Formats: sequence, structure tokens, C-alpha cells
Amino acid sequence: MTDHLSVPILNALVDGELSVDQLAATNPHLSQCPSCTSDALYRSLLKSATAKAGQRYLPTPDLQARLALRIREELSLQNASHVDNVRPVVRSSSFWAAAAALLLISVGIALVQHNWSRSATASAQYAALATEACDQHIATLAANSPPEVISSDRHTVKPWFQGKLPFSFNLPENLPGGTTLDGANLTYIHGRPTAQLLYSVGKHRASVYLQQRSDDKIANGLSSDHSGFHVASFRARDLDGIAVSDVDPARLSDLVTIISQAQE
Ligand SMILES: [Zn+2]
Repeated sequence: MTDHLSVPILNALVDGELSVDQLAATNPHLSQCPSCTSDALYRSLLKSATAKAGQRYLPTPDLQARLALRIREELSLQNASHVDNVRPVVRSSSFWAAAAALLLISVGIALVQHNWSRSATASAQYAALATEACDQHIATLAANSPPEVISSDRHTVKPWFQGKLPFSFNLPENLPGGTTLDGANLTYIHGRPTAQLLYSVGKHRASVYLQQRSDDKIANGLSSDHSGFHVASFRARDLDGIAVSDVDPARLSDLVTIISQAQE
């Protein structure tokens, strides 16, 4: 891969300033290039940290002292001006109105920037997660080895994970037509314990990854294509899920819906 995303494009991406067309042009590259994905993630985390640090701003003791002095001056000015006491009051209230407006504007800008970087972080994290899930699915297919627990019986597969995962999940009783459970593996995605459920959908294979929901802002309901595989994210109860398959996206979506509903 030679044409990596340029620095201006990466910056515009994390700033949420790419047009729809530009996004459409960069997403296929991001979905296949770990280097650009981690670069974008790093930039967006840096931006988020900077925005947070900006919100932690406290006036220095020196500034607080000067503000207090300024208030005392304004007050004594008001008290001292018996004859022409209208103008100083007007000046004083307009001064504070302007100061308040400036403060509101800067807080507003910090909040907007923070929200932008949060959504940029979410898409960069999703892209990284989707890439890893897809790589694992391809590795599973390539290895052609049997799953760690081989069973089409949900009453066998679910208990197998007991004590292996810090969360539990339900397996649906009825699957969409032509779909069967092949088994499951215990795996790790982003270093976190994950259930990899293996399904056959017609002649295609599908992996559905379930993790305990994290504080990461993983976007819900995103889907993307990675080297011929469709990847779809979902949230159900306290779980984050990612499904990967080369089957028709509508059939993968049916499977995801049934698995999500089983968690309720
Ligand atoms: Zn790249």
C-alpha cells in the first residue's frame, strides 16, 4: 500500500471536516490500512486529551486577584459617582456581559471540539476493531481447524464459556433459515476476552464476536466492507458485538438481529 492518507486529510478526518465524498474516498483505505487507522486514532486521542485539558483550566491566583481588584474598582467607582452615576454602571454591566459572552463562546467551542473528537475517536476505534475482527475471521477460515467447542447445541456452547469470560450471553433458540451454529472459540480482540461464535449461513461462514461493553465509544450499528467481507457492529444489553462474513449483508443482519434479541 503506497498511497497513505496525507496529514491534512488525517487532520480533517479527526476534526470532522471531511466532505461526504472525501469520507467515502478515505474509508476504504482506512478499513485496510492499520497504519493510517492507528495514525488517525492517535491524532483523535491527542485532540480529545487536549480538549479535556482545556476544560480543566482554572484562573491563576494572579488573575483571580486582578479580577477581584477590578470588581472592587468598579464598585467604588459606582459609589463615588453621585452626579454622573449612570455611565459607570452601564460600562460596568456591559463589561461583565461581554466577559460572560466571551467565556460562554470559549466553553462552547471547547465542547463542540470535544464532541467532534469523540465521534472521530468512535469511528477510528470502530475501524480498528472491525479490521481486527475481520483479520481473525479470515485467520479462522484459513486455519481450517475445528472450533474449540464444536456443537450446534446452544446448551453446550454457552456453558463452555463459563469461567472463561467475565460476562455471560444468550444464544438464540431459533436461527434464520439456512443458518446453523458450528461452535465457538475463546479469543481476544483489542486485548479483551471475546466469544467468537461460528455460524454457517448457507455455504458461507460467519463469525459473531461478543465482548463486555467497554467505556470506549464504539459506534453502534456501523457496517463496512473489508477485503470482501462485510462487518457490522451492534450493541445488545451490556454487550458489544461485531459480525463478520462474506454472506449477503441482509442475511448477516438477520443473524445479528436474532442474536441481539436473545440478549434482552
Ligand atoms: Zn495507509
